[in-house]
Amino acid sequence: MSDKKVALVTGGGTGIGSAICRALAAEGFRVAIHYRSSEAGAAALAKELDDAFTIQGDLSDASSIDAMVKTLKAEAGRCDVLVNNAGFNVNAPMMTMKLGDYDAVAAVERGAWYLTKMIVRRFMFRAESGRIVNISSIVGHTGNAGQVPYTMAKAGLDAMTKSMALEMQDRGVLVNSVAPGFIDTEMTEVLPEEIKESILSKIPLGRMGKAEEIAEVVTFLATKAGYITGTVLHVNGGMYGG
Ligand code: NAP
Repeated sequence: MSDKKVALVTGGGTGIGSAICRALAAEGFRVAIHYRSSEAGAAALAKELDDAFTIQGDLSDASSIDAMVKTLKAEAGRCDVLVNNAGFNVNAPMMTMKLGDYDAVAAVERGAWYLTKMIVRRFMFRAESGRIVNISSIVGHTGNAGQVPYTMAKAGLDAMTKSMALEMQDRGVLVNSVAPGFIDTEMTEVLPEEIKESILSKIPLGRMGKAEEIAEVVTFLATKAGYITGTVLHVNGGMYGG
């Protein structure tokens, strides 16, 4: 095991998560790249980044999270930074959305809570230090038609950030959220063209964000920012300021 600081990034095999893994590796972290189904993306990234490794797990399943934490303990023996990046959305009007869709969306946010609890208990409280960054969303603040459960989950994640920061204020663990606006990834690629155009017209900077622009703010919170906790940093090209 190396002496390098270790960062666990959930959903690291795709989109914003991959950019966060790259940015943290460039800062000298040994990165644990979590994935659920994107094994190929996570494995290719682990090859690209010095000393990185992959961890598989389904965040909607508590026993899978327990296994992830066990693997992390065996592989690295520490966790200095946790980025709760994984997220799940079902787009549909509330009137046609099924209860199972709601549960699938909420389960990933529940998983972020449980994973955080286990990582903090197993590694961060013992080390009396740690950084947690939760990737929420602008829509948890503004609302968004067709995304009622997703907006609820993301608002809940920011509330988790604030409550956890208070619980951990004297244990050396800082907890913050980064709330992206509309970022150019596969998640937004699937949006219909007219929705994309309507979104663009509302972005003062006139373009979608890049995954790297989220990653650099996450890295700032993970490595510097010693006097920031319980905060939501909005990264959205001026669409919404909090
Ligand atoms: P993405 O590529 O679809 O990423 C979602 C990630 O979540 C995937 O890596 C996926 O893992 C993981 N995931 C989903 N369900 C999971 C589960 N049950 N257990 C474990 N992992 C699960 O989209 P993205 O744009 O990079 O999004 C990253 C984060 O940013 C998400 O939390 C998203 O809500 C948030 N966000 C994105 C935007 C945007 O404009 N793109 C805006 C605001 C917020 P696998 O692929 O391995 O299954």
